[in-house]
Amino acid sequence: MNENHKLNDLDTTISFFKEEVKKFVEARDWNRYHTPKNLVQAINCEAGELSQLLLFRDYTVEEIWNSKKLLTNISEEIADVFIYLISLINALDLDLSQIFTNKMQKNKKKYSSKEFNNGIYYKK
Ligand SMILES: [Mg+2]
Repeated sequence: MNENHKLNDLDTTISFFKEEVKKFVEARDWNRYHTPKNLVQAINCEAGELSQLLLFRDYTVEEIWNSKKLLTNISEEIADVFIYLISLINALDLDLSQIFTNKMQKNKKKYSSKEFNNGIYYKK
């Protein structure tokens, strides 16, 4: 990937992310470390780093956007979580579109918009 090339969500495919992470891992001979257990733990570590940025603070979205440093730090930790998640998907040879679609269908049934249509987050 050309470092100066700016991607965006509208025209970047999941396959691109999977291939980029695969090449990154293979070029460093890290496949032996990217076991399912290690990747799940790495996702949790990175999610912890993301969580730590907000610990004991309840920033509004506006406050986050008004702090370039905080927004950068949050963005980088989101990327770390995403990269390890993609590596886990690669390690397990999963199709993210399929698993996303299947789970969203389940979620739509579990949290039907007829029952959960007024901001309530739990079953009556
Ligand atoms: Mg990190």
